[in-house]
Amino acid sequence: MNQQAILEHVLQSDALPTLSSVASRLITLTAREDTTISDIAALISKDISLSAKILKVVNSAFYGFSQSIVTIQQAASILGTHAIRSLVLSISFLQPRGRQIGDMDFSHFWVQSLRKAVIARRLMAAVDPEMAEEAFVAGLLQNLGVLILVRAYPEKYRLVEQTLKQEALEREQIELRLIGADHTYIGSEVARHWGFPETLVLALRYHGDPQACQSESVEHKRLCQVVHLAEVLSLAYNCSDPRQYVDRFTKCAVQTLGLDEGILDGLIETIHEEIAQVADFFDVEIGEQKSLFEILQIANAELSILNLSYEEMNRSLVEKTVKLEMLTVELEKKNQLLERLANVDGLTQAYNHRYFQNFLDQEIKRSQRHGHTLALVLADIDHFKKLNDNFGHQAGDEVLRQFCDICRSALREYDLFARYGGEEFAVVLPETDLDSAEKVAEKLRQVVMRHEFRHAHHRSRITASFGVYALSPVKEPYSKSEIIGFADHALLQAKKRGRNQVVAFSSKKKWFGR
Ligand code: GH3
Ligand code: MG
Ligand code: MG
Repeated sequence: MNQQAILEHVLQSDALPTLSSVASRLITLTAREDTTISDIAALISKDISLSAKILKVVNSAFYGFSQSIVTIQQAASILGTHAIRSLVLSISFLQPRGRQIGDMDFSHFWVQSLRKAVIARRLMAAVDPEMAEEAFVAGLLQNLGVLILVRAYPEKYRLVEQTLKQEALEREQIELRLIGADHTYIGSEVARHWGFPETLVLALRYHGDPQACQSESVEHKRLCQVVHLAEVLSLAYNCSDPRQYVDRFTKCAVQTLGLDEGILDGLIETIHEEIAQVADFFDVEIGEQKSLFEILQIANAELSILNLSYEEMNRSLVEKTVKLEMLTVELEKKNQLLERLANVDGLTQAYNHRYFQNFLDQEIKRSQRHGHTLALVLADIDHFKKLNDNFGHQAGDEVLRQFCDICRSALREYDLFARYGGEEFAVVLPETDLDSAEKVAEKLRQVVMRHEFRHAHHRSRITASFGVYALSPVKEPYSKSEIIGFADHALLQAKKRGRNQVVAFSSKKKWFGR
């Protein structure tokens, strides 16, 4: 359906809001040249409730007349034909309003319409006071087309509202796409159909795009502009970025209406009071209204809270990162400790049996790879049982600790000293031949023999026996346990030969022949 067909459909449907009979007759009457104020007053006076409302409005602070106005004749003379017509239209439009249209909540629509009306009136009062009432009604009715489209196409209009939230398109574009006609066309054509004056029809038609108004009349163009500006400022209510609408309003009002920024600031600061008054005498419930000034301040505060929380987030992120780094360092230390605990003997702090076995495995492989020699020394403390028997196990423990300390300090950094078990120890000497290994063992023997072991008020001297074995793993591919066996055999020889001596394993034949 094209726009024309949709208009026909709307005009014939009951989607059209009804104008009171007084309002429609008043429009016809005011369109005639020969109509007098008395004719208008006579028509309005026939409707008692309308008359009462008009008197209430004209006596309100909104108009601020010094004397009290008691008759419609008086009101019509003071306000003039246009203003009284606007007032009757406004009352007629706002009278049958409903909060709900279908299942859509429309209370927001009336509040917004009222805001636009009050803003438009105030703006027009600053440039052309005689047109102020016309601007009020134009502001109020500018979205008449929306009201009609919602009633005629409730489902489609729900989709329009949804799309409006999702897409950065103008309402008119979405209406055209989803319904086939936009509210400015429908609203203005319905107003024309009702016999509204051309000024109002054009304002309804071009409120979204005042530049498109082709009329020669300055008044027409100005009204379109004023109504457009009222809509822009009304958007500052209920949005996340009110500043952009307020700025757009100010800039555009200065450019197109030539208004002073001071006047516009005053309007922004006080317009909420006027909106509250007008809502009151038109019986529109608007609830708690914040001033635009407050709305802007809240938006600014929210922005700084956002920035603040960003800074805070940043700070807490830094804190967490630092904490994490500290935890990582701590974890590394703990891992090292755990590794140490797993590899080291608790009593002597020498490497344990498990670590010795792994180390020897690695060294055998390494020596095979590089063709190096490798030596193993096994040591056993002589008559250690006696020491335990004489001084107790704790003294024995202390001697074991000291034995390990002195042996370790007599070795190279890359030699491995480990507790093989009990009072037996193993020394792995990488890249060492038999001759050198014997010398190392001899050095250890002497160190032990010369050392005075102190334990709980006593001093002891001990000796140890050493079995040495060295090989070139490439040439002699013995297994790890064979290598340990050879060294152990040599140690046994040292014990047999009287202890406190170093014996190198030499008799493989004897060994294997056994
Ligand atoms: P030998 O010269 O033949 O080696 O005589 P020995 O007494 O040193 O050897 P034996 O194997 O008969 O006894 C070893 C002793 O070492 C027995 C055991 O109680 C003691 N021993 C083993 N481990 C520890 C330990 O951790 N602490 C203490 N205090 N004594 C230990
Ligand atoms: Mg022993
Ligand atoms: Mg032993």
